[in-house]
Amino acid sequence: MEGKRGLILGLANNRSIAWGIAKACREHGAELGFTYQGEALKKRVEPLAQELGGEVFGHCDVTDPASMDAVMAAVESKWGKLDFLVHAIAFSDKDELTGRYVDTSAENFDRSMNISVYSFTALMQRAEKLMSDGGSAITLTYYGAERVMPHYNVMGVAKAALEASVRYLAVDLGGQGIRVNALSAGPIKTLAASGIGDFRYILKWNEYNSPLKKTVSIDEVGDAAVYLLSPLSRGVTGEVHHVDSGYHVVGMKAVDAPDI
Ligand code: NAD
Repeated sequence: MEGKRGLILGLANNRSIAWGIAKACREHGAELGFTYQGEALKKRVEPLAQELGGEVFGHCDVTDPASMDAVMAAVESKWGKLDFLVHAIAFSDKDELTGRYVDTSAENFDRSMNISVYSFTALMQRAEKLMSDGGSAITLTYYGAERVMPHYNVMGVAKAALEASVRYLAVDLGGQGIRVNALSAGPIKTLAASGIGDFRYILKWNEYNSPLKKTVSIDEVGDAAVYLLSPLSRGVTGEVHHVDSGYHVVGMKAVDAPDI
């Protein structure tokens, strides 16, 4: 990834999936730019960016189009162009990540869709102009898009829409040499995941029932991101690539899985 410049959105702390991706890209020679959501996260993102010799392009809240414009303008003035983009952003009201999907409120449905789905499209509208030599973009999804997971609720519906938008974006932007893919990560204990009901149980279930008999780390997701963001995957677009210890191929609880 030597000579490639990428913008990473969704870094909150050193447990973030965005951090695993950033570290791996940097190890492979990429130059990185970051954004933060609000002043509270600025204090966390700045030292992490510094650790990797990266730029901080300022505050970006995807519900505020002006902040997305400002970040892209800052990238353009500093770098002139962009080679890759990482979208690691999602949100739902915590109170609706427990109980039943059927009880989802219209307000939280709209907000979750806007932040977790539309923001990727909104960012690609802006990034397209900067990816003048082609580029690669990834977003983060979860198996709850494909199958019902307890408590994942509106986020499952949002991730399904996100995966569909990956395919539409791949077609729209493919002619310009811009590739768009998703990484479907297995459950990882992060700030966002802590809002999901019974998350510890979900982690244990994956550990006992995945083919590799373990959960995945942010570093494992990061290494797969290097593949999707670099020319190694130059023949791949519109894909949802699972980094989940193989959990998505399993149809039945393992016979030797303990009761949890
Ligand atoms: P995280 O809490 O570290 O990151 C979530 C990020 O979303 C934060 O940086 C937060 O600032 C950002 N965000 C939320 N609302 C925003 C807004 N309005 N504007 C800008 N940024 C906003 O958690 P994470 O688990 O690393 O999440 C990253 C991505 O990975 C998410 O899309 C998540 O759904 C996905 N994912 C997570 C898991 C998991 O188990 N942790 C599994 C699969 C997919």
